[in-house]
Amino acid sequence: MRLILSILSMFVILSNVFSQQSIADQVKSVQDDPRVKAAFDHIDKDRDAILREWIAITEINAPSKQEQERAKYIEGLLRKHKLEIRYDSAGNLIATRKGTDGGPVTVFDAHMDTVFQPGLKIKATVRDGRVYAPGIGDDTRNIEALLATIRALDAAKIKTKGDLVFVFTTDEEAGMTGAKQYTKDNKGKVDYYIALDGGYEGFTYAGIGINWYRHHFIGPGGHTRSRTPPYSATLPLARAIARIYELKVPTNPSSNLNIGMLGGSEVVNAKASDAWFTVDLRSTNNDVIADLEKKIALILDEEAKRAGVTVKTDVISASPAAVLPGNRESNLVKIAEAVHRAMGFDPPIGNAGSNNSSAALLQGITSISTGAGPCSDSHALTENCEIEPLYRGIKKILLLEVALAGLDQ
Ligand SMILES: [Zn+2]
Repeated sequence: MRLILSILSMFVILSNVFSQQSIADQVKSVQDDPRVKAAFDHIDKDRDAILREWIAITEINAPSKQEQERAKYIEGLLRKHKLEIRYDSAGNLIATRKGTDGGPVTVFDAHMDTVFQPGLKIKATVRDGRVYAPGIGDDTRNIEALLATIRALDAAKIKTKGDLVFVFTTDEEAGMTGAKQYTKDNKGKVDYYIALDGGYEGFTYAGIGINWYRHHFIGPGGHTRSRTPPYSATLPLARAIARIYELKVPTNPSSNLNIGMLGGSEVVNAKASDAWFTVDLRSTNNDVIADLEKKIALILDEEAKRAGVTVKTDVISASPAAVLPGNRESNLVKIAEAVHRAMGFDPPIGNAGSNNSSAALLQGITSISTGAGPCSDSHALTENCEIEPLYRGIKKILLLEVALAGLDQ
């Protein structure tokens, strides 16, 4: 029995190796196809136009829920191509490049919204091989990548078997409502969902759960010279923080805990009547979050009692981990892995992301997240991207599009 089992498991391992091998071969043959080569050449020839268009879109600020002006501009660019174009009830701009024979419906998402305040005047500057502008990276680089691939696919007369659906989503930064609406409306009609957000060298296949809390210790306060106990509410806060950092936070499943903000009295000579701190709790496993949440609540209770104060917790935000069973072994992940390797990105598989991919995974849609270029200072006015690698990133996205939707013969 043992022998049979080990032969069987050997067979499973070997057949996985073979299937991974054949997917790598398939991706390689797509990459070597003259039409795909022509599309890559087009991207090289299109470089200056890509940079100009990327900047033009970035300079239309699009705060969450105020994406209309940017959407109209992108729609104008899409209208130059043979695409079915529509908006849905969440304001997502959707462009479908029809496939020829019912291959996998492959959705690429890039979000239109930015975190910057309405009315902010954005003017990009280029220096030392980088382009600087708020929102240039998150997520305009990926909007531009999709537009550049559409142009290159058309120029090279590439037809895919399955539909390629380009979804320019709204409101990613403020709660993913655009992607949530799209994935809810299209559940069962989508085979692969690729959220382009951040990213360059690798991809992720799970969404990390993120809970933010603000914990308060509430006491009587008073002057420095007032009789104690009760103490300043900063005392249980300090004790609690020290104990929370003693908690074991697992690395597998990938999890994090951070206490980033705290506050107490407004003045030096008063005991704090409200001492508070934040907790940022993350894990790819919701049970880990629930377990740590319980342990933290217990510490807070004990320290509040010990200092004779009360405790109050506000949940600032909570979004659950999105892990789809079997996603790691899915065709999407295998093809994405092969595409990244074929483009020279190795090893390509990252941990977990936090973006529109989670909306798809929570609807049971096979999904990954990746992106088209390296950028820094996302969500800051100093945001910037390297220019040169974007062209390679765009080629990677194009290869991913064709390898997933299938090259029509
Ligand atoms: Zn983003």
